[in-house]
Amino acid sequence: MCSKEISKNVLFMRMNVLVLLFSFSSFAMSQRTCGRCDGTGELVEHCAYCKGYGEKYCSTCGGYGVRNCGFCSGSGSMRCNYCRGRGTVNNGTEYCPKCEGYGNVSCSNCSGSGKVPCPSRDCYDGKVQCRQCNGTGLHRWRCPNCRGTGQVR
Ligand SMILES: [Zn+2]
Ligand SMILES: [Zn+2]
Ligand SMILES: [Zn+2]
Ligand SMILES: [Zn+2]
Ligand SMILES: [Zn+2]
Repeated sequence: MCSKEISKNVLFMRMNVLVLLFSFSSFAMSQRTCGRCDGTGELVEHCAYCKGYGEKYCSTCGGYGVRNCGFCSGSGSMRCNYCRGRGTVNNGTEYCPKCEGYGNVSCSNCSGSGKVPCPSRDCYDGKVQCRQCNGTGLHRWRCPNCRGTGQVR
């Protein structure tokens, strides 16, 4: 083996190391925090469906939490069945014992209030949880810029 051959090999090895170092440093430098998600890997935005409140007005009751009673149309009273609304019984000789002569009794369906609770099971105090964000008011999804890694090249 001549000396020329050895120095050639050394040079070749040195170049390999340099190439390795160079590629490693360029790899490290090219990785930077994703500016779109600040490195968290996910994007968070206010839910567009509930404007970030996490709840919406109930469409069934319009946000009131109650509805007009369907039995009495919200009046709270209904015609007395005992006297058929006349207020008297026995051919008009006695006041009706059920409605005391008024001809109307308080609605049995709503107990005279004229309102019934909203029939929607999801409704509480006229509001329903936003289904699009499960009530969190936020939408999270994987950052498309960094594919959820938080780092971009
Ligand atoms: Zn990102
Ligand atoms: Zn929402
Ligand atoms: Zn409701
Ligand atoms: Zn009556
Ligand atoms: Zn009623």
